[in-house]
Amino acid sequence: MKIDRGDYFGDTVVATRFLVADNWSTIGKPVDRTRWGMTPPTSNAYYNPLMNEIVFPAGILQPPAFSMNVTDAVNYGAIGVVIGHEISHGFDDQGAQFDEKGQLNNWWAAEDLPKFQAKTACVVKQFDGFKIDGADDIHINGKLVLGESIGDLAGLKIAYRAFKKTAQGQSDEKIGGFTPDQQFFIAWGQFRGDETRPEAQKLMAQGDPHPVAKYRVLGPLSNFPPFAAAFSCQAGSPMTRPDAERCVVW
Ligand SMILES: [Zn+2]
Repeated sequence: MKIDRGDYFGDTVVATRFLVADNWSTIGKPVDRTRWGMTPPTSNAYYNPLMNEIVFPAGILQPPAFSMNVTDAVNYGAIGVVIGHEISHGFDDQGAQFDEKGQLNNWWAAEDLPKFQAKTACVVKQFDGFKIDGADDIHINGKLVLGESIGDLAGLKIAYRAFKKTAQGQSDEKIGGFTPDQQFFIAWGQFRGDETRPEAQKLMAQGDPHPVAKYRVLGPLSNFPPFAAAFSCQAGSPMTRPDAERCVVW
Protein backbone atom coordinates (compact mmCIF):
# COMPACT_ATOMS: atom_id res chain seq x y z
CA MET A 1 0.00 0.00 0.00
CA LYS A 2 1.54 3.31 -1.09
CA ILE A 3 0.74 6.40 1.00
CA ASP A 4 1.33 9.95 -0.25
CA ARG A 5 1.45 12.71 2.40
CA GLY A 6 0.01 15.25 -0.04
CA ASP A 7 -2.99 13.22 -1.24
CA TYR A 8 -5.50 12.52 1.52
CA PHE A 9 -8.30 11.46 -0.85
CA GLY A 10 -5.97 9.19 -2.83
CA ASP A 11 -4.72 7.64 0.44
CA THR A 12 -8.32 6.90 1.46
CA VAL A 13 -8.97 5.14 -1.85
CA VAL A 14 -5.76 3.09 -1.62
CA ALA A 15 -6.49 2.12 2.00
CA THR A 16 -10.07 1.12 1.16
CA ARG A 17 -8.85 -1.02 -1.77
CA PHE A 18 -6.31 -2.69 0.52
CA LEU A 19 -8.96 -3.48 3.18
CA VAL A 20 -11.48 -4.81 0.67
CA ALA A 21 -8.84 -7.08 -0.92
CA ASP A 22 -7.77 -8.19 2.56
CA ASN A 23 -11.39 -9.11 3.42
CA TRP A 24 -11.81 -11.01 0.15
CA SER A 25 -8.65 -12.99 0.87
CA THR A 26 -10.29 -14.58 3.94
CA ILE A 27 -13.21 -16.07 1.96
CA GLY A 28 -13.25 -19.87 1.82
CA LYS A 29 -10.56 -20.21 4.51
CA PRO A 30 -11.01 -21.39 8.12
CA VAL A 31 -11.93 -18.61 10.60
CA ASP A 32 -8.79 -17.06 12.11
CA ARG A 33 -9.70 -16.62 15.79
CA THR A 34 -6.50 -14.71 16.56
CA ARG A 35 -7.34 -11.89 14.15
CA TRP A 36 -8.49 -8.55 15.65
CA GLY A 37 -10.96 -6.09 14.18
CA MET A 38 -8.81 -3.16 15.40
CA THR A 39 -5.10 -2.35 15.21
CA PRO A 40 -2.95 -2.34 18.41
CA PRO A 41 -2.55 1.50 18.53
CA THR A 42 -6.32 2.14 18.16
CA SER A 43 -7.87 3.94 21.14
CA ASN A 44 -11.11 1.93 21.20
CA ALA A 45 -12.46 -1.44 22.31
CA TYR A 46 -15.06 -3.91 21.11
CA TYR A 47 -17.13 -6.99 21.78
CA ASN A 48 -17.69 -9.25 18.76
CA PRO A 49 -20.71 -11.55 19.22
CA LEU A 50 -19.63 -13.74 16.27
CA MET A 51 -16.49 -14.77 18.18
CA ASN A 52 -17.79 -14.11 21.73
CA GLU A 53 -14.60 -12.07 22.08
CA ILE A 54 -13.64 -8.80 23.82
CA VAL A 55 -10.66 -6.76 22.60
CA PHE A 56 -8.89 -3.86 24.34
CA PRO A 57 -6.05 -2.72 22.05
CA ALA A 58 -2.93 -1.20 23.66
CA GLY A 59 -4.01 2.20 22.31
CA ILE A 60 -6.81 2.54 24.85
CA LEU A 61 -4.74 1.30 27.79
CA GLN A 62 -3.18 4.72 28.39
CA PRO A 63 -4.41 8.09 29.80
CA PRO A 64 -7.11 9.26 30.08
CA ALA A 65 -8.54 5.71 30.12
CA PHE A 66 -5.84 3.97 32.13
CA SER A 67 -2.56 4.72 33.88
CA MET A 68 -0.38 3.00 36.48
CA ASN A 69 0.20 6.44 38.04
CA VAL A 70 -3.39 7.43 38.89
CA THR A 71 -5.72 6.33 41.68
CA ASP A 72 -7.97 3.27 41.45
CA ALA A 73 -10.96 5.65 41.35
CA VAL A 74 -9.71 7.15 38.09
CA ASN A 75 -8.87 3.81 36.44
CA TYR A 76 -12.12 2.11 37.49
CA GLY A 77 -14.12 5.22 36.48
CA ALA A 78 -12.60 5.28 32.98
CA ILE A 79 -11.24 1.97 31.57
CA GLY A 80 -13.25 0.07 34.23
CA VAL A 81 -16.53 1.38 32.83
CA VAL A 82 -15.32 0.61 29.29
CA ILE A 83 -14.53 -2.99 30.29
CA GLY A 84 -17.96 -3.35 31.94
CA HIS A 85 -19.54 -1.80 28.83
CA GLU A 86 -17.93 -4.39 26.52
CA ILE A 87 -18.87 -7.30 28.79
CA SER A 88 -22.47 -6.08 28.75
CA HIS A 89 -22.51 -6.08 24.91
CA GLY A 90 -22.55 -9.88 25.16
CA PHE A 91 -25.95 -9.57 26.79
CA ASP A 92 -27.52 -6.53 25.12
CA ASP A 93 -30.35 -6.47 22.55
CA GLN A 94 -27.99 -7.89 19.91
CA GLY A 95 -25.36 -9.87 21.85
CA ALA A 96 -28.13 -11.74 23.66
CA GLN A 97 -29.10 -13.40 20.38
CA PHE A 98 -25.74 -15.24 20.09
CA ASP A 99 -24.66 -18.24 22.11
CA GLU A 100 -21.28 -18.93 23.73
CA LYS A 101 -19.84 -20.14 20.42
CA GLY A 102 -20.91 -16.99 18.59
CA GLN A 103 -23.77 -18.69 16.76
CA LEU A 104 -27.14 -17.02 16.25
CA ASN A 105 -29.06 -19.12 18.74
CA ASN A 106 -31.59 -18.05 21.37
CA TRP A 107 -30.38 -19.35 24.76
CA TRP A 108 -32.73 -17.25 26.90
CA ALA A 109 -35.47 -18.74 29.05
CA ALA A 110 -38.84 -17.92 27.46
CA GLU A 111 -39.91 -15.71 30.37
CA ASP A 112 -36.62 -13.75 30.55
CA LEU A 113 -36.53 -12.14 27.10
CA PRO A 114 -39.83 -10.17 27.42
CA LYS A 115 -38.71 -8.98 30.88
CA PHE A 116 -35.39 -7.80 29.46
CA GLN A 117 -37.19 -6.04 26.60
CA ALA A 118 -39.56 -4.30 29.03
CA LYS A 119 -36.60 -2.97 31.03
CA THR A 120 -34.85 -1.74 27.91
CA ALA A 121 -38.00 0.15 26.77
CA CYS A 122 -37.23 2.59 29.60
CA VAL A 123 -33.79 3.30 28.07
CA VAL A 124 -35.29 3.84 24.60
CA LYS A 125 -37.76 6.39 25.99
CA GLN A 126 -35.14 8.20 28.03
CA PHE A 127 -32.67 8.62 25.14
CA ASP A 128 -35.48 9.65 22.76
CA GLY A 129 -35.83 12.62 25.13
CA PHE A 130 -32.26 13.90 24.61
CA LYS A 131 -31.92 16.71 22.05
CA ILE A 132 -28.78 17.56 20.12
CA ASP A 133 -27.11 20.96 20.58
CA GLY A 134 -28.52 23.81 18.55
CA ALA A 135 -31.48 21.88 17.07
CA ASP A 136 -34.53 21.51 19.27
CA ASP A 137 -36.33 19.40 16.68
CA ILE A 138 -33.61 16.71 16.41
CA HIS A 139 -33.33 14.17 19.18
CA ILE A 140 -31.25 11.07 19.85
CA ASN A 141 -32.89 7.90 18.46
CA GLY A 142 -33.39 5.70 21.54
CA LYS A 143 -33.81 2.48 19.56
CA LEU A 144 -30.69 3.14 17.50
CA VAL A 145 -28.47 3.75 20.54
CA LEU A 146 -30.07 1.09 22.76
CA GLY A 147 -27.20 -1.43 22.78
CA GLU A 148 -24.57 1.23 23.54
CA SER A 149 -26.72 2.84 26.22
CA ILE A 150 -27.40 -0.47 27.97
CA GLY A 151 -23.62 -1.00 27.81
CA ASP A 152 -22.91 2.35 29.49
CA LEU A 153 -25.53 1.80 32.20
CA ALA A 154 -24.28 -1.71 32.96
CA GLY A 155 -20.61 -0.77 32.59
CA LEU A 156 -20.95 2.04 35.11
CA LYS A 157 -22.61 -0.27 37.63
CA ILE A 158 -20.11 -3.13 37.21
CA ALA A 159 -17.10 -0.79 37.44
CA TYR A 160 -18.50 1.02 40.48
CA ARG A 161 -19.11 -2.27 42.31
CA ALA A 162 -15.59 -3.42 41.47
CA PHE A 163 -14.15 -0.08 42.63
CA LYS A 164 -15.97 -0.40 45.97
CA LYS A 165 -13.95 -3.60 46.59
CA THR A 166 -10.62 -1.72 46.39
CA ALA A 167 -8.93 -0.11 49.39
CA GLN A 168 -9.57 3.36 47.98
CA GLY A 169 -13.20 2.52 47.26
CA GLN A 170 -13.65 1.72 50.93
CA SER A 171 -11.88 4.81 52.25
CA ASP A 172 -13.13 8.39 52.46
CA GLU A 173 -9.77 10.07 51.98
CA LYS A 174 -10.04 13.12 49.75
CA ILE A 175 -7.51 14.01 47.04
CA GLY A 176 -7.59 17.58 45.72
CA GLY A 177 -10.83 18.07 47.66
CA PHE A 178 -12.61 15.14 45.97
CA THR A 179 -13.83 11.97 47.68
CA PRO A 180 -12.97 8.60 46.09
CA ASP A 181 -16.52 8.28 44.68
CA GLN A 182 -16.36 11.80 43.23
CA GLN A 183 -13.03 10.97 41.55
CA PHE A 184 -14.61 7.84 40.02
CA PHE A 185 -17.51 9.78 38.46
CA ILE A 186 -15.32 12.70 37.32
CA ALA A 187 -13.02 10.18 35.58
CA TRP A 188 -15.97 8.87 33.53
CA GLY A 189 -16.93 12.41 32.56
CA GLN A 190 -13.36 13.31 31.59
CA PHE A 191 -12.82 10.13 29.58
CA ARG A 192 -16.20 9.85 27.84
CA GLY A 193 -17.57 13.38 27.68
CA ASP A 194 -15.75 14.59 24.59
CA GLU A 195 -16.77 17.71 22.69
CA THR A 196 -18.80 17.14 19.50
CA ARG A 197 -19.65 19.87 16.96
CA PRO A 198 -23.40 20.42 16.34
CA GLU A 199 -22.96 19.31 12.70
CA ALA A 200 -21.37 16.03 13.81
CA GLN A 201 -24.14 15.59 16.41
CA LYS A 202 -26.73 15.91 13.63
CA LEU A 203 -25.01 13.16 11.66
CA MET A 204 -24.65 10.93 14.75
CA ALA A 205 -28.35 11.29 15.62
CA GLN A 206 -29.25 9.82 12.25
CA GLY A 207 -26.95 6.85 11.94
CA ASP A 208 -24.51 6.31 14.79
CA PRO A 209 -25.42 3.55 17.28
CA HIS A 210 -23.48 5.54 19.92
CA PRO A 211 -25.29 8.44 21.62
CA VAL A 212 -23.62 11.87 21.48
CA ALA A 213 -20.82 11.72 24.08
CA LYS A 214 -22.35 14.05 26.64
CA TYR A 215 -25.42 11.79 26.96
CA ARG A 216 -23.13 8.81 27.54
CA VAL A 217 -22.18 10.69 30.72
CA LEU A 218 -25.43 12.43 31.71
CA GLY A 219 -27.62 9.42 30.78
CA PRO A 220 -26.09 6.66 32.91
CA LEU A 221 -25.12 8.96 35.80
CA SER A 222 -28.66 10.36 36.10
CA ASN A 223 -29.94 6.79 36.58
CA PHE A 224 -27.35 5.92 39.21
CA PRO A 225 -28.17 6.83 42.85
CA PRO A 226 -24.51 6.59 44.08
CA PHE A 227 -23.72 9.52 41.73
CA ALA A 228 -26.40 11.74 43.32
CA ALA A 229 -25.17 10.68 46.77
CA ALA A 230 -21.52 11.44 45.92
CA PHE A 231 -22.32 15.04 44.95
CA SER A 232 -25.24 15.58 47.38
CA CYS A 233 -27.64 16.26 44.49
CA GLN A 234 -31.10 17.19 45.73
CA ALA A 235 -34.21 15.51 44.26
CA GLY A 236 -35.32 17.43 41.16
CA SER A 237 -31.84 18.65 40.23
CA PRO A 238 -30.84 18.14 36.55
CA MET A 239 -28.79 14.96 36.97
CA THR A 240 -31.24 13.08 39.18
CA ARG A 241 -34.46 11.23 38.36
CA PRO A 242 -37.40 10.18 40.48
CA ASP A 243 -37.35 6.41 41.25
CA ALA A 244 -40.21 5.74 38.80
CA GLU A 245 -38.24 7.25 35.89
CA ARG A 246 -34.92 5.60 36.64
CA CYS A 247 -33.84 2.90 34.14
CA VAL A 248 -32.28 -0.24 35.58
CA VAL A 249 -31.51 -3.03 33.11
CA TRP A 250 -29.02 -5.25 34.95
ZN1 LIG B 1 -20.18 -0.33 22.78
